[in-house]
Amino acid sequence: MSDSQSVRTWRVPGRVNLVGEHLDYNGGPSVPFAIDRFVTLKARPREDDAVNVWSTLPDGSRQKADFTTSVQPGDVDGWASYPAGAVWALVQAGHPVGGLDLVLESDLPSGAGLSSSAALTVGVTAALDEIAGLGLDRTAIALSAQRAENDFVGAPTGSMDQLAVAHGQAGHAVLTDPSTDPPGTSLVPFQIADDGLAIVVIDTGVSHDHATGGYADRRRESAEAAALLGLEHLAQAGLDAPYKLEDETLKARVRHVITETARVRASLRALTDRSWAQLGTILTASHESLRDDYAVSCAELDVAVETAIEAGALGARMTGGGFGGSAIALVETADVERVRALVGERFESVQWRRPATFVVQPADGATLVTGQG
Ligand code: ADP
Ligand code: MG
Repeated sequence: MSDSQSVRTWRVPGRVNLVGEHLDYNGGPSVPFAIDRFVTLKARPREDDAVNVWSTLPDGSRQKADFTTSVQPGDVDGWASYPAGAVWALVQAGHPVGGLDLVLESDLPSGAGLSSSAALTVGVTAALDEIAGLGLDRTAIALSAQRAENDFVGAPTGSMDQLAVAHGQAGHAVLTDPSTDPPGTSLVPFQIADDGLAIVVIDTGVSHDHATGGYADRRRESAEAAALLGLEHLAQAGLDAPYKLEDETLKARVRHVITETARVRASLRALTDRSWAQLGTILTASHESLRDDYAVSCAELDVAVETAIEAGALGARMTGGGFGGSAIALVETADVERVRALVGERFESVQWRRPATFVVQPADGATLVTGQG
């Protein structure tokens, strides 16, 4: 029988993507960082093949889901499909995985573009890896979690979220490179607090849940443009690529991918040089490209970004897939309250719900905090 000694506690962060949006599935680089908002996961191995999951959902309701390690796509739906998908992806890959009891708690907003889904799938995968002694590395854990989202949940994400959640490190961002197999990751120092700056998340409260269609449309358009250009991935496109296409929509999508890739390169230089004004400009330019060329922003995100800049932010952009979710602003610590107040005021003036705003720090990726072995 399992006893309390065998309970493992995992702390699994969400992520903010600093720059490099909608590039992962286009084979281009991103610079996300794991944030100090977490899903806490208590996992206890079972001697049978049952998986029981208890979670307090963001609306405060306590839920339970149960399935077995033989669960298949379509057997469960809703939030349970994330832990079930994590189990399924490991079993599919031939890993011997037993049952377990899981209790989830979270202070990471869900559906806010901060990758609570990746926190959940990476957390369950990491817990099963440790319990079963599979010896997977962080990238393999991230890719199995991505498979859970893609092929079980049916969310066509790239690998950036899961890589950030698995590889994050306090004081660092994670440069991800999906152009290699497996994708590459490297840590980039990111310690803006020392220089009196902060990243403020502005959660618009507009759920991007119902926007899966828009995300899938962008993936399809990207694949179409790449095929027309004879490229495997759109991030391989040269500066002349937009001129080789006829369709104005596809031209604009390619323009975003080219310019966003260049912004990632520029951001690495800015991070190395601690050129924060430069980084701010890059963030704002990224937002404009996502708004105008990639067309994945929305009114609430645009107002959050414009107002943050008006209140003194060095730069701001939507983060994550878009169509709602969160914006981030690079702000001098002394201006954080001003940004928060003005954004709140502006939202209320048009009868939108005041957004949640909070400062995030680069944090460690999925970590076993107690109960190893
Ligand atoms: P994001 O990853 O940006 O938060 P997603 O739509 O990809 O948004 O994932 C959100 C979904 O993940 C929720 O609708 C819910 O099904 C699931 N989820 C997130 N956090 C939890 C949690 N603590 N407990 C149960 N399910 C969760
Ligand atoms: Mg997600």
